[in-house]
Amino acid sequence: MMQREAPIQSTTAASSSDPILEIRDLRTYFFLERGTVKAVDGVNLTLGRQSTLGIVGESGCGKSVTASSVMRLVKYPPGKIVGGEILLHRSQAAAHGQPREVVDIVKLDHQGAQIRAIRGGEIAMIFQEPMTSLNPLKTIGNQIAETVTLHQKVGKQAALQRAEEMLHKVHISAPRQRLSEYPHQLSGGMRQRIMIAMALSCNPSILIADEPTTALDVTVQAQILDLMRTLQDEFHSSIMLITHNLGVVSQMADHIAVMYLGKVVEYGPVRAMFHEPLHPYTVGLLKSVPVLGRKTAQLIPIKGMVPSPTETIRGCAFAARCPHAMQICGEQRPELRAARPSHEVACWLH
Ligand code: SF4
Repeated sequence: MMQREAPIQSTTAASSSDPILEIRDLRTYFFLERGTVKAVDGVNLTLGRQSTLGIVGESGCGKSVTASSVMRLVKYPPGKIVGGEILLHRSQAAAHGQPREVVDIVKLDHQGAQIRAIRGGEIAMIFQEPMTSLNPLKTIGNQIAETVTLHQKVGKQAALQRAEEMLHKVHISAPRQRLSEYPHQLSGGMRQRIMIAMALSCNPSILIADEPTTALDVTVQAQILDLMRTLQDEFHSSIMLITHNLGVVSQMADHIAVMYLGKVVEYGPVRAMFHEPLHPYTVGLLKSVPVLGRKTAQLIPIKGMVPSPTETIRGCAFAARCPHAMQICGEQRPELRAARPSHEVACWLH
Protein backbone atom coordinates (compact mmCIF):
# COMPACT_ATOMS: atom_id res chain seq x y z
CA MET A 1 0.00 0.00 0.00
CA MET A 2 1.33 3.45 -0.89
CA GLN A 3 2.00 5.82 1.99
CA ARG A 4 1.05 9.46 1.78
CA GLU A 5 3.89 11.81 0.96
CA ALA A 6 5.09 13.69 4.04
CA PRO A 7 4.43 17.39 4.42
CA ILE A 8 7.46 19.67 4.25
CA GLN A 9 8.21 21.75 7.34
CA SER A 10 9.57 25.24 6.91
CA THR A 11 12.19 26.72 9.19
CA THR A 12 14.79 29.44 9.10
CA ALA A 13 17.53 26.99 10.06
CA ALA A 14 20.49 29.28 10.51
CA SER A 15 22.25 27.81 13.47
CA SER A 16 25.94 28.55 13.84
CA SER A 17 26.79 24.95 12.99
CA ASP A 18 24.55 25.17 9.87
CA PRO A 19 23.57 21.53 9.51
CA ILE A 20 22.55 20.04 6.20
CA LEU A 21 21.55 16.65 7.60
CA GLU A 22 20.46 15.80 11.13
CA ILE A 23 19.88 12.23 12.22
CA ARG A 24 17.91 12.04 15.45
CA ASP A 25 17.41 8.88 17.49
CA LEU A 26 17.42 6.74 14.34
CA ARG A 27 16.49 3.10 14.83
CA THR A 28 16.73 0.62 11.96
CA TYR A 29 16.01 -2.98 12.87
CA PHE A 30 16.13 -6.25 10.92
CA PHE A 31 13.49 -8.79 11.88
CA LEU A 32 15.08 -12.22 11.34
CA GLU A 33 14.06 -15.73 12.39
CA ARG A 34 16.93 -15.86 14.89
CA GLY A 35 15.84 -12.58 16.49
CA THR A 36 15.74 -8.83 15.97
CA VAL A 37 19.02 -7.25 14.88
CA LYS A 38 19.12 -3.65 16.08
CA ALA A 39 21.58 -2.58 13.39
CA VAL A 40 21.10 1.11 14.15
CA ASP A 41 19.80 1.75 17.64
CA GLY A 42 19.30 5.37 18.61
CA VAL A 43 21.88 7.14 16.44
CA ASN A 44 22.20 10.94 16.59
CA LEU A 45 24.48 12.63 14.06
CA THR A 46 24.80 16.01 12.39
CA LEU A 47 26.46 16.68 9.05
CA GLY A 48 27.47 20.32 8.65
CA ARG A 49 27.13 22.18 5.37
CA GLN A 50 30.22 21.74 3.18
CA SER A 51 31.95 19.65 5.79
CA THR A 52 32.96 16.00 6.00
CA LEU A 53 31.75 13.62 8.68
CA GLY A 54 33.66 10.35 8.99
CA ILE A 55 31.79 7.38 10.44
CA VAL A 56 34.11 4.62 11.62
CA GLY A 57 33.77 1.28 13.36
CA GLU A 58 34.23 -2.44 12.85
CA SER A 59 32.11 -4.44 10.38
CA GLY A 60 28.56 -4.80 11.61
CA CYS A 61 28.60 -1.65 13.78
CA GLY A 62 25.76 -0.10 11.78
CA LYS A 63 27.59 2.50 9.69
CA SER A 64 26.42 1.24 6.28
CA VAL A 65 22.86 0.68 7.54
CA THR A 66 22.86 4.31 8.71
CA ALA A 67 23.77 5.36 5.14
CA SER A 68 21.14 3.06 3.60
CA SER A 69 18.55 4.51 5.98
CA VAL A 70 19.39 8.04 4.83
CA MET A 71 18.91 6.93 1.22
CA ARG A 72 15.77 4.95 2.22
CA LEU A 73 17.31 1.85 0.68
CA VAL A 74 16.56 -0.47 3.62
CA LYS A 75 14.15 -3.09 2.27
CA TYR A 76 11.26 -4.52 4.29
CA PRO A 77 11.24 -7.39 5.02
CA PRO A 78 13.51 -7.88 6.89
CA GLY A 79 14.82 -4.32 7.52
CA LYS A 80 12.76 -1.37 8.70
CA ILE A 81 13.28 2.11 10.11
CA VAL A 82 11.28 1.79 13.31
CA GLY A 83 11.92 5.22 14.79
CA GLY A 84 13.71 8.54 14.64
CA GLU A 85 14.11 11.35 12.15
CA ILE A 86 16.46 12.11 9.26
CA LEU A 87 16.12 15.82 8.60
CA LEU A 88 17.41 17.14 5.29
CA HIS A 89 17.90 20.91 5.32
CA ARG A 90 17.38 21.70 1.67
CA SER A 91 19.78 24.22 0.24
CA GLN A 92 18.07 25.07 -3.07
CA ALA A 93 15.30 27.17 -1.53
CA ALA A 94 17.72 29.09 0.69
CA ALA A 95 19.79 29.98 -2.35
CA HIS A 96 16.85 32.04 -3.56
CA GLY A 97 16.59 33.96 -0.31
CA GLN A 98 13.70 31.88 1.03
CA PRO A 99 13.50 30.08 4.37
CA ARG A 100 15.24 26.74 4.23
CA GLU A 101 12.97 23.72 3.85
CA VAL A 102 13.45 20.77 6.14
CA VAL A 103 12.25 17.35 5.01
CA ASP A 104 12.05 14.35 7.31
CA ILE A 105 13.25 11.57 5.01
CA VAL A 106 11.89 8.89 7.36
CA LYS A 107 8.34 10.12 6.76
CA LEU A 108 8.57 9.94 2.96
CA ASP A 109 7.06 7.11 0.95
CA HIS A 110 10.18 5.08 0.13
CA GLN A 111 9.02 4.70 -3.50
CA GLY A 112 7.45 8.13 -3.86
CA ALA A 113 8.42 11.03 -6.09
CA GLN A 114 9.99 13.02 -3.25
CA ILE A 115 12.53 10.41 -2.21
CA ARG A 116 13.35 9.59 -5.85
CA ALA A 117 14.09 13.27 -6.43
CA ILE A 118 16.26 13.42 -3.31
CA ARG A 119 18.08 10.14 -4.04
CA GLY A 120 20.67 10.87 -6.68
CA GLY A 121 19.57 14.51 -7.05
CA GLU A 122 20.21 15.99 -3.58
CA ILE A 123 21.92 13.04 -1.86
CA ALA A 124 24.14 10.77 -3.94
CA MET A 125 26.04 7.69 -2.90
CA ILE A 126 29.33 6.11 -3.92
CA PHE A 127 29.61 2.43 -3.10
CA GLN A 128 32.65 0.34 -2.22
CA GLU A 129 32.63 -1.86 -5.31
CA PRO A 130 31.67 0.00 -8.47
CA MET A 131 31.19 -3.22 -10.45
CA THR A 132 28.12 -4.01 -8.36
CA SER A 133 26.69 -0.52 -8.86
CA LEU A 134 27.49 0.06 -12.53
CA ASN A 135 25.34 -1.73 -15.09
CA PRO A 136 27.67 -4.04 -17.09
CA LEU A 137 25.29 -3.96 -20.10
CA LYS A 138 25.17 -0.19 -20.54
CA THR A 139 27.82 2.21 -21.77
CA ILE A 140 29.37 4.64 -19.30
CA GLY A 141 27.89 7.57 -21.22
CA ASN A 142 24.35 6.21 -21.11
CA GLN A 143 24.57 5.43 -17.39
CA ILE A 144 25.68 8.94 -16.43
CA ALA A 145 23.25 10.53 -18.91
CA GLU A 146 20.35 8.53 -17.42
CA THR A 147 21.12 9.91 -13.95
CA VAL A 148 21.21 13.45 -15.38
CA THR A 149 17.91 13.15 -17.31
CA LEU A 150 16.23 11.59 -14.26
CA HIS A 151 16.92 14.66 -12.13
CA GLN A 152 17.26 17.55 -14.56
CA LYS A 153 15.06 18.81 -17.37
CA VAL A 154 17.56 18.23 -20.17
CA GLY A 155 17.55 16.15 -23.35
CA LYS A 156 19.76 13.13 -24.09
CA GLN A 157 22.34 15.15 -26.04
CA ALA A 158 22.80 17.70 -23.24
CA ALA A 159 22.98 14.87 -20.69
CA LEU A 160 25.72 13.15 -22.70
CA GLN A 161 27.59 16.43 -22.86
CA ARG A 162 27.29 16.71 -19.07
CA ALA A 163 28.57 13.11 -18.79
CA GLU A 164 31.63 14.04 -20.87
CA GLU A 165 32.25 17.12 -18.71
CA MET A 166 32.05 15.01 -15.55
CA LEU A 167 34.50 12.42 -16.92
CA HIS A 168 36.87 15.27 -17.64
CA LYS A 169 36.45 16.57 -14.05
CA VAL A 170 37.35 13.17 -12.57
CA HIS A 171 40.46 13.05 -14.78
CA ILE A 172 39.41 10.25 -17.10
CA SER A 173 41.56 10.43 -20.22
CA ALA A 174 39.83 10.67 -23.64
CA PRO A 175 36.41 11.29 -22.01
CA ARG A 176 34.47 11.35 -25.28
CA GLN A 177 35.77 7.94 -26.24
CA ARG A 178 35.00 6.53 -22.75
CA LEU A 179 31.33 7.46 -23.12
CA SER A 180 30.84 4.52 -25.46
CA GLU A 181 32.83 2.03 -23.36
CA TYR A 182 31.48 -0.53 -20.89
CA PRO A 183 32.50 -0.90 -17.19
CA HIS A 184 34.48 -4.12 -17.82
CA GLN A 185 36.81 -2.21 -20.18
CA LEU A 186 38.03 0.04 -17.34
CA SER A 187 40.36 -0.51 -14.35
CA GLY A 188 39.08 -0.52 -10.73
CA GLY A 189 40.36 3.02 -10.12
CA MET A 190 38.70 4.31 -13.30
CA ARG A 191 35.40 2.65 -12.40
CA GLN A 192 35.49 4.36 -8.99
CA ARG A 193 36.12 7.70 -10.77
CA ILE A 194 33.09 6.96 -12.99
CA MET A 195 31.00 6.36 -9.84
CA ILE A 196 32.15 9.72 -8.46
CA ALA A 197 31.36 11.39 -11.80
CA MET A 198 27.90 9.83 -11.82
CA ALA A 199 27.24 10.75 -8.17
CA LEU A 200 28.25 14.39 -8.74
CA SER A 201 26.61 14.77 -12.17
CA CYS A 202 23.48 16.36 -10.62
CA ASN A 203 25.45 18.51 -8.19
CA PRO A 204 24.07 16.90 -5.00
CA SER A 205 24.31 18.75 -1.69
CA ILE A 206 25.34 15.55 0.11
CA LEU A 207 27.64 12.78 -1.01
CA ILE A 208 27.60 9.55 0.97
CA ALA A 209 30.76 7.54 0.30
CA ASP A 210 30.58 4.00 1.70
CA GLU A 211 34.12 2.57 1.86
CA PRO A 212 34.96 4.37 -1.41
CA THR A 213 38.59 3.29 -1.55
CA THR A 214 38.62 -0.11 0.16
CA ALA A 215 38.74 -2.12 -3.07
CA LEU A 216 41.60 -0.03 -4.51
CA ASP A 217 45.36 -0.26 -4.13
CA VAL A 218 47.01 2.42 -1.98
CA THR A 219 48.31 4.71 -4.73
CA VAL A 220 44.90 4.80 -6.42
CA GLN A 221 43.27 5.30 -2.98
CA ALA A 222 45.30 8.47 -2.48
CA GLN A 223 44.32 9.77 -5.93
CA ILE A 224 40.62 9.11 -5.32
CA LEU A 225 40.68 10.86 -1.91
CA ASP A 226 42.48 13.81 -3.45
CA LEU A 227 39.88 13.95 -6.21
CA MET A 228 37.00 13.83 -3.70
CA ARG A 229 38.50 16.74 -1.74
CA THR A 230 38.98 18.83 -4.89
CA LEU A 231 35.46 18.14 -6.13
CA GLN A 232 33.98 18.84 -2.69
CA ASP A 233 35.44 22.36 -2.88
CA GLU A 234 34.23 22.85 -6.43
CA PHE A 235 30.70 21.50 -5.87
CA HIS A 236 30.33 22.85 -2.28
CA SER A 237 29.08 19.44 -1.19
CA SER A 238 28.94 17.85 2.26
CA ILE A 239 30.38 14.36 2.59
CA MET A 240 29.40 11.50 4.87
CA LEU A 241 32.39 9.18 4.67
CA ILE A 242 31.90 5.66 5.92
CA THR A 243 35.04 3.63 6.46
CA HIS A 244 36.85 1.28 8.79
CA ASN A 245 40.10 2.97 7.74
CA LEU A 246 41.23 5.58 10.29
CA GLY A 247 43.93 6.80 7.89
CA VAL A 248 41.26 7.77 5.37
CA VAL A 249 39.16 9.72 7.90
CA SER A 250 42.21 11.50 9.28
CA GLN A 251 42.88 12.93 5.80
CA MET A 252 39.31 13.72 4.86
CA ALA A 253 37.02 14.37 7.83
CA ASP A 254 36.26 17.47 9.89
CA HIS A 255 34.35 15.45 12.50
CA ILE A 256 34.35 11.75 13.33
CA ALA A 257 31.65 9.54 14.79
CA VAL A 258 32.76 6.17 16.16
CA MET A 259 30.02 3.53 16.08
CA TYR A 260 29.83 0.35 18.12
CA LEU A 261 26.99 -2.14 17.94
CA GLY A 262 24.46 0.22 16.38
CA LYS A 263 25.28 3.28 18.48
CA VAL A 264 27.56 6.29 18.32
CA VAL A 265 29.97 5.94 21.25
CA GLU A 266 32.14 8.99 20.54
CA TYR A 267 31.81 12.07 18.35
CA GLY A 268 34.13 15.01 17.96
CA PRO A 269 36.45 17.10 15.79
CA VAL A 270 39.05 15.04 13.94
CA ARG A 271 42.03 16.48 15.83
CA ALA A 272 40.57 15.78 19.26
CA MET A 273 39.53 12.27 18.22
CA PHE A 274 43.08 11.40 17.15
CA HIS A 275 45.01 13.24 19.85
CA GLU A 276 42.72 12.97 22.88
CA PRO A 277 40.31 10.09 22.28
CA LEU A 278 38.00 9.49 25.24
CA HIS A 279 36.18 6.21 24.67
CA PRO A 280 38.22 3.04 25.35
CA TYR A 281 36.94 1.60 22.04
CA THR A 282 38.31 4.60 20.09
CA VAL A 283 41.59 4.30 22.00
CA GLY A 284 41.68 0.59 21.07
CA LEU A 285 41.00 1.33 17.40
CA LEU A 286 43.85 3.84 17.29
CA LYS A 287 46.29 1.48 19.02
CA SER A 288 45.49 -1.30 16.57
CA VAL A 289 46.45 0.76 13.49
CA PRO A 290 50.08 0.77 12.27
CA VAL A 291 51.71 4.21 11.97
CA LEU A 292 54.45 4.70 9.40
CA GLY A 293 57.77 5.48 11.13
CA ARG A 294 56.57 4.44 14.61
CA LYS A 295 58.85 1.43 15.14
CA THR A 296 58.67 1.13 18.89
CA ALA A 297 54.96 1.20 19.58
CA GLN A 298 53.37 -2.20 19.61
CA LEU A 299 50.12 -2.85 17.76
CA ILE A 300 47.54 -3.84 20.34
CA PRO A 301 44.42 -5.58 19.04
CA ILE A 302 41.11 -5.02 20.83
CA LYS A 303 40.49 -8.23 22.72
CA GLY A 304 37.30 -10.25 22.34
CA MET A 305 34.57 -10.05 19.75
CA VAL A 306 31.69 -7.71 19.03
CA PRO A 307 28.65 -9.24 20.82
CA SER A 308 25.88 -10.76 18.70
CA PRO A 309 23.54 -7.99 17.53
CA THR A 310 20.52 -10.06 18.61
CA GLU A 311 21.80 -10.21 22.20
CA THR A 312 20.15 -7.94 24.77
CA ILE A 313 22.86 -6.06 26.67
CA ARG A 314 21.95 -4.30 29.87
CA GLY A 315 24.86 -1.93 30.41
CA CYS A 316 27.66 -0.72 28.15
CA ALA A 317 27.91 -2.88 24.99
CA PHE A 318 31.73 -2.62 25.11
CA ALA A 319 32.03 -3.82 28.74
CA ALA A 320 33.15 -7.38 27.92
CA ARG A 321 36.12 -6.03 25.93
CA CYS A 322 36.93 -2.93 27.95
CA PRO A 323 40.10 -2.79 30.12
CA HIS A 324 38.46 -0.12 32.34
CA ALA A 325 35.08 -1.78 32.95
CA MET A 326 33.57 -0.99 36.36
CA GLN A 327 30.53 -2.32 38.16
CA ILE A 328 28.21 0.37 36.81
CA CYS A 329 29.25 -0.49 33.23
CA GLY A 330 27.49 -3.86 33.42
CA GLU A 331 24.38 -2.37 35.01
CA GLN A 332 23.57 0.88 33.24
CA ARG A 333 24.02 2.00 29.66
CA PRO A 334 26.03 5.24 29.34
CA GLU A 335 24.41 7.88 27.10
CA LEU A 336 26.33 10.09 24.68
CA ARG A 337 27.21 13.28 26.58
CA ALA A 338 29.45 16.29 26.02
CA ALA A 339 32.67 15.63 27.92
CA ARG A 340 34.40 18.67 26.41
CA PRO A 341 33.15 21.42 24.09
CA SER A 342 32.07 19.73 20.81
CA HIS A 343 33.37 16.35 22.00
CA GLU A 344 30.82 13.75 23.11
CA VAL A 345 31.34 10.29 24.55
CA ALA A 346 29.17 7.47 25.90
CA CYS A 347 31.30 6.11 28.73
CA TRP A 348 31.07 6.09 32.55
CA LEU A 349 34.74 7.11 32.77
CA HIS A 350 33.76 10.57 31.54
FE1 SF4 B 1 34.48 0.73 29.41
FE2 SF4 B 1 32.61 1.25 31.20
FE3 SF4 B 1 33.31 3.11 29.46
FE4 SF4 B 1 31.92 1.00 28.68
S1 SF4 B 1 31.24 2.59 30.08
S2 SF4 B 1 33.65 1.87 27.65
S3 SF4 B 1 32.80 -0.58 29.96
S4 SF4 B 1 34.58 2.21 31.05
